[in-house]
Amino acid sequence: MTNELKTSLIRAGVYEYGEVDPKTVEFTEEVRKYCEDNVCRQYGKTWACPPAVGTVDECRERARSFDKMLVFSGKYDLEDYTDFEAIHAAMTGFKSIARKLDEEVKPFLSDYLMLSNEGCGMCEVCTYPDAPCRFPDRVHGSIEGYGIYVNKLAEMAGMNYNNGKNTVTFFGALLYNANHELNTNADRNRATTQGRPYTNRDGAREPRP
Ligand code: SF4
Repeated sequence: MTNELKTSLIRAGVYEYGEVDPKTVEFTEEVRKYCEDNVCRQYGKTWACPPAVGTVDECRERARSFDKMLVFSGKYDLEDYTDFEAIHAAMTGFKSIARKLDEEVKPFLSDYLMLSNEGCGMCEVCTYPDAPCRFPDRVHGSIEGYGIYVNKLAEMAGMNYNNGKNTVTFFGALLYNANHELNTNADRNRATTQGRPYTNRDGAREPRP
């Protein structure tokens, strides 16, 4: 089972991963306030973001009903921080990583919750709030929308929040109940081949060899 999960992370194209106990993760109104300020323009636009995901208390309770939290990231290179096209491609690319990981774990995890970066983007026009989500089994809640400080979460998981100049890194999490353990906190894992981080700019999602 442990090997299956590790293989899934590599096949999905994650950059780094680490595991934390969801009961030690803070779910805060402060982060939710950033959503409410609508900096990312997704607040109230999709079932994947607040307020549709529920209150922070509800998100905390939902997340803590699982005993494992596997944090994963995607790192993307940019020309510079005005390279909005590449930033948008990175956001979309990371969502694809989370969806790929979802597909990978579905055969062997029956009880899990996947969180990803902001928004959804699966449908051209989201049904929110007029009709139910078209793909409730595939929509991934926003990790920030849950009230999580992603920088703190990365540190807890032994992962890099910032991967250098002219890069952007996105984070997601897989919450699940299982009997297996990943030895990730003691020995940080980088899902890479031959020590070279996989850079998936332009949303490339091929499994590593
Ligand atoms: S799957 Fe479609 S309906 Fe559901 S949250 Fe995403 S965009 Fe909206």
